[in-house]
Amino acid sequence: DLVLELAGVEKAYNRGKPNELVVLRGADLQVAPGEIVALVAPSGAGKSTLLHIAGLLDGADAGRVAIAGQDAAGLGDRRRTAIRRQNVGFVYQFHHLLPEFTALENIVLPQLANGVSAAAARARAEDLLNRVGVAERAGHRPAALSGGEQQRVAFCRALANAPQLLLADEPTGNLDPDTADRVFAALVNLVQETGLSAVIATHNLELAARMTRMVRLEGGRLIAG
Ligand code: ADP
Ligand code: ADP
Repeated sequence: DLVLELAGVEKAYNRGKPNELVVLRGADLQVAPGEIVALVAPSGAGKSTLLHIAGLLDGADAGRVAIAGQDAAGLGDRRRTAIRRQNVGFVYQFHHLLPEFTALENIVLPQLANGVSAAAARARAEDLLNRVGVAERAGHRPAALSGGEQQRVAFCRALANAPQLLLADEPTGNLDPDTADRVFAALVNLVQETGLSAVIATHNLELAARMTRMVRLEGGRLIAG
């Protein structure tokens, strides 16, 4: 079973208006369990749009979007949100951690909201932090962490509720090249160790080359690269 399937996805902003901008013109993508797909395109090509549609944060104008075999077409917001919460983790260029909570708490809270017991949530948070090498920073708030540490914690938070699919939008884009390299490696390890599938948008071709495969977003379509 595919973890993610996009077929013939179309998306325009300001449809029908003078400033209409067609971003996706029939994008197809199939992600199998365990695959880590690099999504490569220049800035403005539509990577964020594609990831938002893939994660059911935004709707396509046409085409099929299915997550873990569940077709999202025609579903209402509540069902789409339920599929997203159960199956998808997001990471962005910026960490978006809650500033008043510690690193550990930032990973525990989404689990508590999902009905996990406090003890189990804490154990999972500690395990995830350990895997990305920031266990000793668990009690610090985000502001006390380095940029690389903040992103590592954000990866853990995205995986807190054990999604099947991780969608990452330039996850190391705000870091200096050396830090980006190490943080990126930590992300790929984490994805592999937890058996996740991932689509990771980046314009760093060296990083992209280390993934299972690469797709390019060109002219609103996805092309094997
Ligand atoms: P990328 O992530 O590859 O930089 P985006 O998906 O963010 O690209 O944006 C693709 C194009 O759509 C860009 O030209 C951007 O300016 C435009 N765009 C993005 N969001 C909106 C929006 N809400 N309304 C209008 N245009 C948008
Ligand atoms: P851009 O895509 O223009 O580079 P950012 O890197 O700031 O923009 O953010 C990446 C994407 O994350 C954007 O498309 C934005 O809509 C989304 N985003 C920003 N903040 C949040 C948030 N707090 N929660 C969910 N999505 C967010």
